[in-house]
Amino acid sequence: MKTIENLSVSGQRVLVRVDFNVPLNEDGSVANDKRILATLPTLRYLLDQGAKVILLSHLGRPKAAPEAKYSLRPVAEALALRLGQAICFCEEAIGPKADAAVQELQNGELLLLENVRFYPGEERGDESFAQALAAHGDCYVNDAFGTAHRAHASTTVVAKFFPGACAFGYVMAAEIENVNRVLQSSERPALAIVGGSKVSSKIDILQRLMDRVDHIIIGGGMSFTFIKAQGGEVGQSICELDHLQTAKDIMDLAKEKGVTLHLPSDVIAADDFAPTANTQICSIFEIPSDWQGLDAGPASRKAFIEVVKSAKTLLWNGPLGVFEMDAFAGGTREVGEAIAEATEAGLFSLVGGGDSVSAVEQFGLADRMSYISTGGGAMLEYLEGKTLPGIQAIIDFA
Ligand code: AMP
Repeated sequence: MKTIENLSVSGQRVLVRVDFNVPLNEDGSVANDKRILATLPTLRYLLDQGAKVILLSHLGRPKAAPEAKYSLRPVAEALALRLGQAICFCEEAIGPKADAAVQELQNGELLLLENVRFYPGEERGDESFAQALAAHGDCYVNDAFGTAHRAHASTTVVAKFFPGACAFGYVMAAEIENVNRVLQSSERPALAIVGGSKVSSKIDILQRLMDRVDHIIIGGGMSFTFIKAQGGEVGQSICELDHLQTAKDIMDLAKEKGVTLHLPSDVIAADDFAPTANTQICSIFEIPSDWQGLDAGPASRKAFIEVVKSAKTLLWNGPLGVFEMDAFAGGTREVGEAIAEATEAGLFSLVGGGDSVSAVEQFGLADRMSYISTGGGAMLEYLEGKTLPGIQAIIDFA
């Protein structure tokens, strides 16, 4: 894997695609700086080497034209604070102002260009837009794992203009290395915990994991489709009736591959999808007709925790209940705590793909996991075994 350390960057203009798609507060300030912090090691390395660093990013979903609320200017301010160094911002990504800003840049200085999605060529993967971006740099670094699954101009197409002069930044390298560590599961037993609302969005991941892990815990909303497929009564619980056969196929595949599937045995059922609903603990096979399962019950939590304790490698994708409501967060929290403890005792734990990351952060457990992925959709596609265009482009042109 070619990383920034394999490029000679001193005195060079290094074009770096980062993922500064951060949530903003109403007043436009940065609400969560996790993605900014993640890129600091890459930026510090390049600046220390005396490179001229030119940053590209998107923010939000502007409609291929400038929109003040999606300007990266507040991100530039936040970045300068975190980096402890003044940085330049240009209100264009291409054009005469951007050219002038790049030209004025000195060694060891950093310039953030305006949101690449203000230009229609970005999401279209337009070659002439990519070429105009490429003109700003002598080499290209991709450190935006969160958009690696998009074949956009600044994430993928641009790489072809830097043959022999492309590399991964530290964020990308860490993401690839850590997911591969889980997918190769060299330390056994390997366990995947797959939760979330729907089985239909996790079919490819479940199938792929069958060749890579020894145990799979299926939790959260998607478990009800498996219970229904076995003839259980799931009441009003979220259930995909058009995927009962999918669930059966997954159970058959697990048998064939020798993977132990663990489903919840009991649930916290509620008479409404609301934090104030009445609740009861019941068998997941016998949920009363007007009730719905919103969290793993005590017996399920206990059983899941035992499996966690026996694992050496663990992937966690998707919550085990409606963790956004306190009343139904217990299953996700307790299993999360068990993973944190097991990690401290030597387990390699990777949390990735959207909501489980939010859950782990909400419970203050993020620092106790081995690795937390920064890329939601990109991580899911990587786990599904898809080739991510942003990664492939660097491999092709490195
Ligand atoms: P996903 O985006 O498919 O990973 O699903 C995440 C969402 O699943 C979260 O917002 C959870 O609240 C939701 N979820 C988890 N368990 C349940 C459940 N038992 N019933 C309804 N939604 C659930």
